[in-house]
Formats: sequence, C-alpha cells, structure tokens
Amino acid sequence: MSDLERPLRPKRARSWVDWAVQFRWILVILVVLPISKSFDTVAWFRETWSAWKSEKKRQKEHDENVEKVIKRLKARDPSKDGLVCTARRPWIAVGMRNVDYKRARHFEFDLNDFNQVLEVDRENMIARVEPLVNMGQITRYTVPMGLSLAVVAELDDLTVGGLINGYGIEGSSHIYGLFADTCVAYEIILSDGRLVRATAENEYKDLFYAIPWSQGTLGLLVAAEIKLIEVGPYMKVTYKPVRGTLQELAQAYNDTYCPRDGDQDNPAKVPDFVEGMVYSETEGVMMYGRYASKEEAKRKGNKINEIGWWFKPWFYQHAETALKRGEFVEYIPTRDYYHRHTRCLYWEGKLILPFADQFWFRYLLGWMMPPKVSFLKATQGDAIRNYYHERHVIQDMLVPSYKVGDALEFSDREFEVYPVWLCPHRLFKHPMRTQINPEPGFEYAGRPGDTPYAQMYTDVGVYYTPRCVFKGEEFDGVAAVKKMEAWMIENHCFQPQYAVSELNERDFWRMFDPSLYNRCRDKYKAVGTFMSVYYKCKKGKKSEKEVAEEEAKVTETGYADVEK
Ligand SMILES: Cc1cc2nc3c(=O)[nH]c(=O)nc-3n(C[C@H](O)[C@H](O)[C@H](O)COP(=O)(O)OP(=O)(O)OC[C@H]3O[C@@H](n4cnc5c(N)ncnc54)[C@H](O)[C@@H]3O)c2cc1C
Repeated sequence: MSDLERPLRPKRARSWVDWAVQFRWILVILVVLPISKSFDTVAWFRETWSAWKSEKKRQKEHDENVEKVIKRLKARDPSKDGLVCTARRPWIAVGMRNVDYKRARHFEFDLNDFNQVLEVDRENMIARVEPLVNMGQITRYTVPMGLSLAVVAELDDLTVGGLINGYGIEGSSHIYGLFADTCVAYEIILSDGRLVRATAENEYKDLFYAIPWSQGTLGLLVAAEIKLIEVGPYMKVTYKPVRGTLQELAQAYNDTYCPRDGDQDNPAKVPDFVEGMVYSETEGVMMYGRYASKEEAKRKGNKINEIGWWFKPWFYQHAETALKRGEFVEYIPTRDYYHRHTRCLYWEGKLILPFADQFWFRYLLGWMMPPKVSFLKATQGDAIRNYYHERHVIQDMLVPSYKVGDALEFSDREFEVYPVWLCPHRLFKHPMRTQINPEPGFEYAGRPGDTPYAQMYTDVGVYYTPRCVFKGEEFDGVAAVKKMEAWMIENHCFQPQYAVSELNERDFWRMFDPSLYNRCRDKYKAVGTFMSVYYKCKKGKKSEKEVAEEEAKVTETGYADVEK
C-alpha cells in the first residue's frame, strides 16, 4: 500500500512517556543488562550442578517436590482461599499479556524447584523434563548428544510448562506441529491432589488433548515427556531474496516448504527448517534449512557462520543482506541456529537499545545481550507498559497458510509494522476437538501444505512499533488489535494468549473451541479450584465481584459420574 492510499492520521503530541521510552536504554545498560547477565550466570551454575546429579537423585528431588505440592493443595480451604495459580512473579514470564489475575485474591503454588531434566531416554527417544526447564537449558543438554526436541522454541528463556499450556512454535513446526504436539505424556496434579499421567491412549486421553492452550487451568503440570529427534551439528541455511506484492511474497514463502505436487511428507522435498522475513510491502527473504554433518559443513568452498558469537551481526539484519547480495547459502552450528533471534529478541532489541547492532557495541558489550524480557518488564512501570499496548504491537496471527497473503495485507493496512515473521506449522486433526482445530473440510480442498491429517497454518508474527508512530502520528493499538481479532475469527485464525487480547468472553469462545476444555474442567473438578482460561487471559485488573463470581463457580454436571 502506498503512503498516498493510507488513512490520514493526525499528529500526536509527545508526552513524558515518549521520552522515557526513547531514553530507556540508559536504564537498560546500567541496570537491566548487568542483572540479566548475573541471573544467567547463576542459572548456568544451577543447571550445571543439576546435570552432575544422577538421574536417580533428580527423580528423588522431583518426587519430594511433587509431594509438597499435593500436601499444599489438600490443605487449601476453598471457602477461604482464592483460586489456585503458580507463584511465578508476573514479570518473570516472557509473554506480554498482563498477568492481572495475580493482582486479585489467589492461592499460590511454588513450582520454582521444578527446573531439572529428569531423564533422556535415547532408546525410546524421549526426554522427561520438569516444567521450568527452559529452551536454552535443554539445547545445552541435548545438542552435544546429537539430539534435540523436535520443536525448540526460539528464545532461551521460554519454558516447557509455558510452551505446553500456552503455545510454542519454531521453524520445524511445519513437520512436527506446535510444541505440545511433540509431547507424549503429561504428569499433572489435579484439583483433588491426585497425580495422573495423561497420554493420547490411556484413560486420561481427554485431559491430554485438553491441556494445550488451557493456560494451567486444568491442573498443575509437574513433568512432561517430549519426543527427541536426531540432529546434525550444522544447519545448512539458504537465504532467498524475493520482491513483489505482498501476495507474491506469500506465494514465494509457501513455495519454500510446500512441494507443488503435494508430496508434503517427503523429506527430500521438504526442508527441516523454514522461516520467512518480510522487510517491507515489496521485499522479503525466505529461508530454509537442512541439518548437515560436520564433514559436509567443512568441505572446501562451504562457508561456516558461527552466528552465536556475541560480536556477530544480528540475525534479522544478516538475513536482510540477501536483498543486496542475492541468494546465498551458509552452514550455522545447530544450537546457534535454534537461538538465532535470542540476542536481538527478534528485532525488538533495536527499539530497546537502538545502537546495540553497531560494530563497536557488539564487540564491547554484545556479550551482555540480550536484556532479559523479565527484567525489562520488571523495570518498566505501568505507564511504559500501557504505552506498549497502545503504540506498539506484539501479536501473532495463526492463519491458514493459503491466507498468508491476505494476513500480510491486513497487517500492512492496520499495523504498518515491519519486519513481519512468517513461520509455518501443522494444525493436526486430533481424535478429540482441542481448543484449536483445522478448518472444517480442509481435507477436500487439496491446498498446498495440507495432508489428510493436518492443515498447514502459518504464524504471522507482527512485532515492532508501527511506522506511523515513528512519524509522530496517532495510532490506536487497542482498536487495531480489536480489528485484527475480528478478522481472525472471520478467517478461522487463532491468537496465542501470551499476547494482549481485547476479546470479550463471547468472541473468545468463537475463536477457540470450548467443548473438550469445558468437559475436562467439569470432569476433573477444575471449576472452583483453577480459574477459567478466559478469566485468566482477560485484560485488566479483576474486580472483587468478578473474583467472587469465579470462586463461587461449581461443577454442574459430573461428567465422570455420567460416564460411569
Ligand atoms: C519477545 C518474545 C519472543 C517470543 N518468542 C517465541 C518463540 O520463539 N516461540 C514461541 O513459541 N513463543 C514465543 N513467544 C511467546 C511464548 O511462547 C509464550 O509466552 C509462551 O506461552 C511461553 O512463555 P513462558 O515460558 O514465559 O510461559 P508462561 O507465560 O510462564 O506460561 C504460559 C501459561 O502456561 C501456564 N503454565 C506454565 N507452567 C505451568 C505449569 N507447570 N502448570 C500449569 N500451568 C503452567 C502459565 O500459568 C501461563 O498461563 C515469545 C514471546 C515474546 C514476548
């Protein structure tokens, strides 16, 4: 869309918050970066210490911690104590949603000690881990063994528990689906203090399918068993520049991972990793990767790029160079590749520390990057937090892949945010209706990327400050997000709940399927113990009336009893 076609936006007067955001880098350099680095160092020692312990010892500690949680849950008095949630401080989570439910009355459970890898079973290719194990920790553990989780979410600090109960995606999701699709079992403490193991086959299979996207409102997850895959030490990455309209960019992106003959399960035709970056309304770079051996990477003429070093250019800027130099190929160490966007927080780092991509900063202080999202949140205060809701966008739109072009046009019109991240993922047709399901009848349309058992979706990630805000014009972030949500409901799309949502309860349940979730809430007596997922995700501080209503809810139908 050209500037002449865009709606005219009035100029906006600058307030002190604009200055606070602009000069936030001072606080970040003096306070946030040193604390982040110290925190990471302590976490590294804790992790190394845990790796030294025998599996037996880690299991013993796990059992003791589970026992403590069960004891506390049994001691809860529903008539006096609030609804249950974890004791994790709201600012620690990576998500942008305001954890407003923690400002209301609630009954906390400390799960902070659930941070160990319990077992790596090479024979069955399964890792059993506790929920606070994060992505950086798990890749440090498994990649040197030539193994990896099938879906490794990008940022080091994202946790297993959050990626299962919330949502999790990476460049391999076009093969394996979302993070929860790679799990084979969940160990959950239910409202009555029972510890159960839910799998896709056993008596708790309904719970197994209801856990993803439930935001911890069915039970407390204390361990998960996750599929492992064998990986090569390098990723051979191809960067392909593309120019054209947004629809043409979308087509070029879909062509990188959807063979035109529909042979979607053929590893020779479908790469191991895919992502697209749209830099403007006419330019993008599509990337695809394949695992490679050391011998291949080191062959004469091949270029190895160890992008994990602190002084290396930021990944999104490095990829953008393909627009000038043309298509190129390089080999990146696998772990560096998994965490390629960590150092610059995708491109949000550019807003927080505008000069941190410069040569001198990268060499001098790059080793301290990134500032932890948690500490950025902890030091921002309500004014900056609200500024980010109103004049900044962090949203993911999970759209059917054949609608990516339309989603890009929508985002260009309403948000004017670039770069835009594109990452495909399979949406499986499960034996039970989970909160998110493919479009009815998608199997018969024969669209690129689809198979009889899964529809291909794409995460259209819109993160940054809109251009109009940079130009000093008005931007109403709340209205734009409302429009986006309406567009998404109309187009069978899903909005991950880590982001700020403006949905009211009726529209929330138009976007997500409540049937299995509500059945499990009743059957496992979560109602009255755990808050409902809408109440938990809803924006804004809860009033005393809402808190009381939520606490007073009781299970009306005992599905467990009916099924007996
Ligand atoms: C800058 C940035 C980058 C991001 N990058 C990615 C990315 O690359 N890939 C990706 O998939 N996502 C990404 N996200 C979004 C992220 O996926 C979500 O925030 C996600 O749900 C995990 O974050 P977390 O580990 O902090 O979980 P949390 O926010 O702590 O948890 C998510 C939900 O799960 C619940 N929960 C957590 N643990 C338990 C438990 N043990 N028992 C019961 N309930 C539990 C929590 O209560 C909460 O409702 C990004 C977000 C930001 C802001």
